[in-house]
Amino acid sequence: MTIDKEKCITCDVCNKLCPKEAVKYDCDNILIEREKCVLCGLCVPFCPLGALNIFINNEEKIILNQTKGLPN
Ligand code: SF4
Ligand code: SF4
Repeated sequence: MTIDKEKCITCDVCNKLCPKEAVKYDCDNILIEREKCVLCGLCVPFCPLGALNIFINNEEKIILNQTKGLPN
C-alpha cells in the first residue's frame, strides 16, 4: 500500500472510508498503518488524485477492474 505524497492533497477521503481505521490523518500528513491495513483496496478508487496504490507480488491490485464494482 503506497501513498504518493506528491499527489496527495490530504483531503481525508481515504481516512473517512477505511473500514479498518488504518489511515492516520493529522491535517497535513497522512499515512497508512500497515498493521491495521488489510489491503482491501477500497480506498484506492476513491482517492480523487490517484495517490493510492496497492501492489501485491509486484502486481497492482485494482479492485473495481477486478470486480466490476464495489465488493459485497
Ligand atoms: S484520498 Fe488521496 S488525496 Fe485524499 S488524503 Fe487520501 S491519499 Fe490523499
Ligand atoms: S486498503 Fe482497505 S484497509 Fe487498507 S487503508 Fe485502504 S481502505 Fe483501509
